[in-house]
Amino acid sequence: MCPHQADINDAVKKHIKALAQNNLVRTRHAHDTPQGPVIRLKGKNIVNFCSNDYLGLANHPALISAMKDGVDRYGVGSGASQLVCGYTTAHEILEERLCEFTGRQSAIIFSSGYLANLAIVNTLLDRHDTILGDKLNHASMIDAAKLSRARFKRYRHTDINSLQNLLKDSTGNKLVMTDGVFSMDGNIAPLPELAITCAGKNAWLAVDDAHGFGVLGEHGGGTAEQFGLTAKEIPVLMATFGKALGTSGAFIAGDKEVVDLFVQSARTLIYSTALPPALAYTTIQALKIVCEEKWRREHLRKLIGRFINGANQLNLPIINSPTAIQPLLPGSTVKTVDASTRLLEKGFYVTAIRPPTVPKGTSRLRITLTAAHSEEQVDQLLDALSLLV
Ligand SMILES: *Cc1c(COP(=O)(O)O)cnc(C)c1O
Repeated sequence: MCPHQADINDAVKKHIKALAQNNLVRTRHAHDTPQGPVIRLKGKNIVNFCSNDYLGLANHPALISAMKDGVDRYGVGSGASQLVCGYTTAHEILEERLCEFTGRQSAIIFSSGYLANLAIVNTLLDRHDTILGDKLNHASMIDAAKLSRARFKRYRHTDINSLQNLLKDSTGNKLVMTDGVFSMDGNIAPLPELAITCAGKNAWLAVDDAHGFGVLGEHGGGTAEQFGLTAKEIPVLMATFGKALGTSGAFIAGDKEVVDLFVQSARTLIYSTALPPALAYTTIQALKIVCEEKWRREHLRKLIGRFINGANQLNLPIINSPTAIQPLLPGSTVKTVDASTRLLEKGFYVTAIRPPTVPKGTSRLRITLTAAHSEEQVDQLLDALSLLV
């Protein structure tokens, strides 16, 4: 082995040792069941309270058969990027349905939300421009901003004054980026106020609604629908298929000119293989179920209320969230990891979320509820939590 290789190995070992000392080593647990309220891990059935499958669609029978049908029609892989020969009628129809569903003129599909966020920043801004992001934005938006040539400023979490101050001395085109529902806290961004602020300062607003889309709003249109905000207020609307819709991928919707520009110059669209057509085909069906099976949103809302009431009665250290994301902060990283481990022993799966995913000192159990859970399962989780924290 050359000495250089040994140096690298030493550096890696040191890095991992530091992680271990801070209780920050992450592990993956392979399970062998479909996503759902109960999954089997190492031969044991456990109740799963950490997936983003908010409506319980990832294993929906109609979606399973749509996927099989999609594979029969289109095969497995897309074969190329959308601009070469990877774009199919399944992608095209899904884009049309997304337009109808979101009330936008145009929509474009990306292979993942991460790639869609990279596209937003790199397509719309150059080095003369400024990105303003909420402090607690999802990592993909932060990375997008860091990888862009634009200036990047972060305003205090949901703080309109802080944003206004930063906007005052921002130059070039200005893009304000926020989660619709914050992924680790579950709270909802003040979108109407953000929209007014952006309009007043001639800034664009981009909303990443990964955790609102399908779940919030009367028809599942997400935070934009909940607040009644159109493309005029939110010119760039992004959401993903891997959460409430139960499939995988993402889209950006807006006015035709805006979306057309992504076709021309979004590097993560042009230089990345298109989403497998069967997935686009399945997502068309998922969107239909989001519209038709309203009971899923209603049941989820009931479970959220039940969990919050129960947690408050037990004085559990949850933070105030109106959504399916219910963070519980045991007080330290050690306590959080310990609580997660003991929950697993009792048959509940809730992963510990630690820095850098969340700010230092705020390690948490990110409990997520889904429409596939029962009231009994929520009560059982509350019982287990009451004995732990
Ligand atoms: C999950 C998530 C993403 C990334 O989406 P993928 O399709 O999983 O890449 C982006 N933004 C937010 C807020 C998310 O929660």
